[in-house]
Amino acid sequence: ANDNDDIRRRIRTIPDFPKPGIMFRDITTLLLDAEGLKLTIDRMAGQVEGKVDLVAGIEARGFLFGAALAVKLGTGVLLVRKDGKLPGATIAEDYALEYGTDRIAIHADACTPGARVLLVDDLIATGGTARAAVRLLRKAGAVVTQAGFVVDLPELGGAAALRGDGIEVNALVA
Ligand code: 5GP
Repeated sequence: ANDNDDIRRRIRTIPDFPKPGIMFRDITTLLLDAEGLKLTIDRMAGQVEGKVDLVAGIEARGFLFGAALAVKLGTGVLLVRKDGKLPGATIAEDYALEYGTDRIAIHADACTPGARVLLVDDLIATGGTARAAVRLLRKAGAVVTQAGFVVDLPELGGAAALRGDGIEVNALVA
């Protein structure tokens, strides 16, 4: 199915998680499914344009898709983590949440300046997380021009905002 219906139907929606009113897209069912996981990684790889030197995965589900995609593309994987989790010297970036702020970090020496980095996460909603990751990677000297997600929630505007930052945004399911 070219519309990725075979992937869409392997993702379930759980109402009122993590709080009332939120319809949470649960990709654990996709991960559990050998065929679904393979289709996902193959199609994400098919959306990549040109040469990529490194895949950056966002904690935590972005690590899974990011690492699998990195193996397929023949690259390493860079971890974008919640601040305070990485053992070495880090650089960090803050981003706004509905209430308050959050902070993500990468190892300061994780990428060579000029490296073409593909950003990967399971889902883009408001885009706050992905946009902060792009700022952080660019601060480290990475060339970031594309990002891949399994799910986009376009009504939340994140993909559009990320495109405004000069990123080609790909998602399998909207
Ligand atoms: P954003 O920063 O774009 O608002 O939220 C995206 C981040 O929150 C991603 O790291 C993603 O894993 C997580 N997230 C937000 N909503 C959902 C959801 O419905 N399902 C899943 N799987 N992750 C979500």
